[in-house]
Amino acid sequence: MINGERTIQRPLRWGMVGGGRTGQVGYKHRTGALRDGTYQLVAGAFDLDAERGRDFGTALGVEGDRCYATYQDLIAGETAREDGVDVVSVATPNFTHFEITKALLNAGIHVICEKPLFFTVAECEEVKALAKEKGLIVGVTYGYTGHPLVRQMAAMVAKGMLGEIRIVDLAYTHGFNAGDDTNAGEAVKWRTNPETAGPTFVLGDIGTHLYYLSEIVLGDVRVEKLLCDRTAFIPSRAPLEDHATVLMHYSNGARGRLWVSSVDAGNMGSQRYRFVGSKASLVWSDSHPDQLLYQVQGEPERILHHGMPYLEDESLACDRMGALHTEGLGDSWSNIYLWIAQAIDARMRGDDAFLANHHYPGIDAGLEGVRWLENCVRSADQGAAWVDFE
Ligand code: NAD
Repeated sequence: MINGERTIQRPLRWGMVGGGRTGQVGYKHRTGALRDGTYQLVAGAFDLDAERGRDFGTALGVEGDRCYATYQDLIAGETAREDGVDVVSVATPNFTHFEITKALLNAGIHVICEKPLFFTVAECEEVKALAKEKGLIVGVTYGYTGHPLVRQMAAMVAKGMLGEIRIVDLAYTHGFNAGDDTNAGEAVKWRTNPETAGPTFVLGDIGTHLYYLSEIVLGDVRVEKLLCDRTAFIPSRAPLEDHATVLMHYSNGARGRLWVSSVDAGNMGSQRYRFVGSKASLVWSDSHPDQLLYQVQGEPERILHHGMPYLEDESLACDRMGALHTEGLGDSWSNIYLWIAQAIDARMRGDDAFLANHHYPGIDAGLEGVRWLENCVRSADQGAAWVDFE
């Protein structure tokens, strides 16, 4: 169980690019980072509006002279200091991730970047090589993948408790974009424009969470073929999609079905994962995040509750609240940030043995998400054809 004890040599000096006062995801980063004493927020270029960014940063407790107008100013200012930032989180619209991440790595700063990581696999490969050359960590923030019951699912599948995996059924849908974009705010405008969102809307925005989660749970079982059908129910969003269905064939013969939608009218947001094996199934949904449904064929259904001693060690090790209280998205983010901090700390100490066995969402997690998106788009562009996963 996590109790806030420090697990790294010293707190990391942390900065943010984006995640300003009006930003949707910024507070999730701060919730994740600032909980265990592993990060101290010391700098930021929080906002495209420099004045608002400075005002916001100082309200967060950052010194005024370390609230910068641009990420370039942040890099210049922080690299000139002896106590400059160790790591910076990038919580800006998708089209900026690549250039900001590269600039930070070139300045010798570790990076935690939002998903979808970049627009292309080629960009991911370039940054992967750069991070390796510089000896730096790139972390990626996939929301629920730090939840103890997600770790529980992965551990149970790895132990063979489901038998051979046969069916993967994943959904992440909401209805917040069911209407048109006449009065859309900035966060919708950039998400529905290929120049700022990249090659996808909902597939990248919410589908990449599902894909990374399935990678964690399935282990060595990989996608071999997929078929993606995507559409824009609101025509102004084309060529991007506000709704998509993806069918997948896996390396062990399993079949997968995933759907993502932002036009699922009336749905306030739901994520549901179901993994079916030859002996049993697991179902987890964010509407009951404390519970994992374990269904063994021929036996009464069981509800596994987070924090209980009968769970696997991997799950109990990252539980924060204990079984009596709800464990949710904020707790998951804290675990993701902690795991990335431990990776950065190990890299600083030159502890390659620790890193080789340490689980955290790194550059490959970001890269594989972008690879999946590229395959989805290739399939959709051929009229929802089956394509080999490349
Ligand atoms: P948003 O439009 O709500 O906020 C973007 C923020 O970045 C704003 O504060 C804006 O002023 C600032 N910004 C934009 N360009 C900047 C620049 N060049 N320099 C400094 N600040 C800049 O967007 P959002 O919804 O918060 O999404 C941001 C990123 O986070 C996207 O990549 C999105 O896909 C991702 N996201 C991830 C999750 C998750 O669960 N991991 C959730 C929501 C969003």
